[in-house]
Amino acid sequence: MRSRAKQAVYSIGRQYDDDSLATTYLKACDDDFATCSTCARAWQIRADSYWQLVWKTSKRGEKVGRLGDFTWHSSDDCTLLSDRLKLIMEPYLHGVTVREVSYENSFEVQNQNSGKPLWEVTDLPVASVDVEATGARVTKQCSECGHKTYNFNAEMLLTVDRSSWHEWDLFTLDEFRLFFVTERVLSCIQQAIATNYRIRREAVIGDD
Ligand SMILES: [Zn+2]
Repeated sequence: MRSRAKQAVYSIGRQYDDDSLATTYLKACDDDFATCSTCARAWQIRADSYWQLVWKTSKRGEKVGRLGDFTWHSSDDCTLLSDRLKLIMEPYLHGVTVREVSYENSFEVQNQNSGKPLWEVTDLPVASVDVEATGARVTKQCSECGHKTYNFNAEMLLTVDRSSWHEWDLFTLDEFRLFFVTERVLSCIQQAIATNYRIRREAVIGDD
């Protein structure tokens, strides 16, 4: 059989080294979460949780910085897209939830994204890591909730379990709740010269 190069996928996320960009976080109600009494892991128990988007503001009450094409918040498998980037990424935005987010346009620095609609991309389909092919193993499993801990490290090339991934352009991993995109989505974002993202990790889709 002819061997072929494995398909690369990438997780993208917050660009920490540029503080001229507006930043936000999600505020949720504590009552919407359950916590495992053994391992202290928290998970959401209400699907209709009310999440509030809190922007970093200056002393004068303006939102700090300018609005990037991506805005990341406390949830790494979710992002906000500028209106221009949402239009460009439209061919890839199926199988995920896209909803308009309301915000007040009070950014310190106005740019092409200010005042235009802002779109939240969430509910990414979930694939899983092929732990063995990645060269990792389970080091701990919680006796109460069953949550597994692995010995993943930054040197390991993550391999996505081929049978758990269904040609999704946008997805997350059960073990790494990051925002993963395929190579064609990454090149679409790069061609658009989108602002406020960086590649966090490269992974490959495993063999059948
Ligand atoms: Zn637990």
